[in-house]
Amino acid sequence: MARNLNPQCKQCRRIGEKLFLKGERCLSQKCAIVKRNYPPGAKGMAGAKGGRQRRSDYGLQLLEKQKIKKQYQLLEKQFKLTFLKASKLAGDKGENFLKLLETRFDNIIYRFGYATSRNTARQLINHGHFMINNKKVNIPSYQVKEGDIIAINPTSFKLKPFNKLDEIFKKAEVPGWLNLDKKEKKGKVMHLPGMADIKCNINLPLVVEYYSR
Ligand code: SF4
Repeated sequence: MARNLNPQCKQCRRIGEKLFLKGERCLSQKCAIVKRNYPPGAKGMAGAKGGRQRRSDYGLQLLEKQKIKKQYQLLEKQFKLTFLKASKLAGDKGENFLKLLETRFDNIIYRFGYATSRNTARQLINHGHFMINNKKVNIPSYQVKEGDIIAINPTSFKLKPFNKLDEIFKKAEVPGWLNLDKKEKKGKVMHLPGMADIKCNINLPLVVEYYSR
């Protein structure tokens, strides 16, 4: 699958907010938003002196759409398809959209702490390192369901990404709708997330407006 190769920190600086794309670095003083919170390039430096440009209504909608797309590290085609799928469900389009993004398999692997970014989670899944309900699943966009059990493929246990599982589990900040059994080394989807379960700094109505133009 094609990847967005823009260096992650530049993406955050262009948007002006932390998108948490580089794992622990994002929480440290090394974060580029902490050190240089202005857009990259010479024009960005001018912006640092004069403040960021004011945005039109369209610009604000685009900004919110870009923020959530980059946070989940998806390309436009897949992102838009997910929105269209959400639009066909009953209920609030924006909330449905966020829930579909949150219940993607790659996001679950990221939430359990096996990967420091969703891109890395996607690679681990593509390589067949995980199972759902005892069956290998190598589709990052797979939507998990309530009760699904997620485990490391037994043939992958000795591989490098899983060498330091205890350390991985110690750092994992698993949200309440998921449960990680550190002893059995298995995770479970306890229930599908509600809006209160998802930390989100996105103005979802603006994203809906963007795609409803
Ligand atoms: Fe964004 Fe993380 Fe880079 Fe900070 S360290 S700018 S949050 S990717």
